[in-house]
Amino acid sequence: MTVIAVHGGAGAESPADRPARRDGVARAVEAGWAVLDAGGHALDAVIAAVAVLEDDPLFNAGLGSVLTVEGVVEMDASLMAGDTLQAGAVGAVTGVRNPVRLARAVLDEGREVFLVGEPAERLAGRHGLATCAPDALITEEARRRWRERLAPGGETVGAVARDTAGRLAAATSTGGVTGKRRGRLGDSAVIGAGTYADDTLGAGSATGPGEAIIRLCLVRTALELIARGADAPGAAAESLALLQRRLGATAGIILLDPRGQVGMARTTESMPAAYRSATGATVVLD
Ligand code: ASP
Repeated sequence: MTVIAVHGGAGAESPADRPARRDGVARAVEAGWAVLDAGGHALDAVIAAVAVLEDDPLFNAGLGSVLTVEGVVEMDASLMAGDTLQAGAVGAVTGVRNPVRLARAVLDEGREVFLVGEPAERLAGRHGLATCAPDALITEEARRRWRERLAPGGETVGAVARDTAGRLAAATSTGGVTGKRRGRLGDSAVIGAGTYADDTLGAGSATGPGEAIIRLCLVRTALELIARGADAPGAAAESLALLQRRLGATAGIILLDPRGQVGMARTTESMPAAYRSATGATVVLD
């Protein structure tokens, strides 16, 4: 089944932002769906969806990213194509509007899977990607959270898709966690932990405390549960239960099985999420 599912990060959210953030994930689904509907590749669909949320200041990715303890933006993003197992990831980058497109540039160049910092940022020029002054990504809200040392929220964004040819893809993008030290990389940059896609296993994107998610290789762990017979909703719930039991962490995850069944789960207070499949209209979850 052709399908796209999107999440806008697991955590707690201000009641005032709830409607606009639900609207954001619905718009992201529509952007991804437009690619799928035109017969496009699942990888292009997840990039289109994630880029919408990177451009939306209410999500912690691209514009609106949280700040490091030093008061700067450093973003992580990764993506993977399930048909070829090609992957691209960037870590601790700034000055680019859409880190997910930078991760795509790494994938397209095909030399590395993972590039960090300034050498990764330099790919933006070569691939015609939108750049900006690092401060242009900082919103008033991000500054306020940094000044008030607010507990990290989780507004990382991610998407998974299955296209008309049955190809799967996943992408994740984040500003990380508030008050992280410069140079810290989270799971959103790590293939297997925050992002994974393999047409024979499924696809997934995770959100939550990166250190715990990396230790459990959360998305890959969830997809292995599917390989052992779980359905996508069951694998999503079980992988999060495992994360809580083994590492005491709460998080969120979206999954697709190889046929396109959607699984979405969270153990946090909230996680805006939405999906659309060939059988119906966009469904926005609470
Ligand atoms: N997973 C992200 C990170 O650790 C943050 C989040 O999703 O809340 O960088």
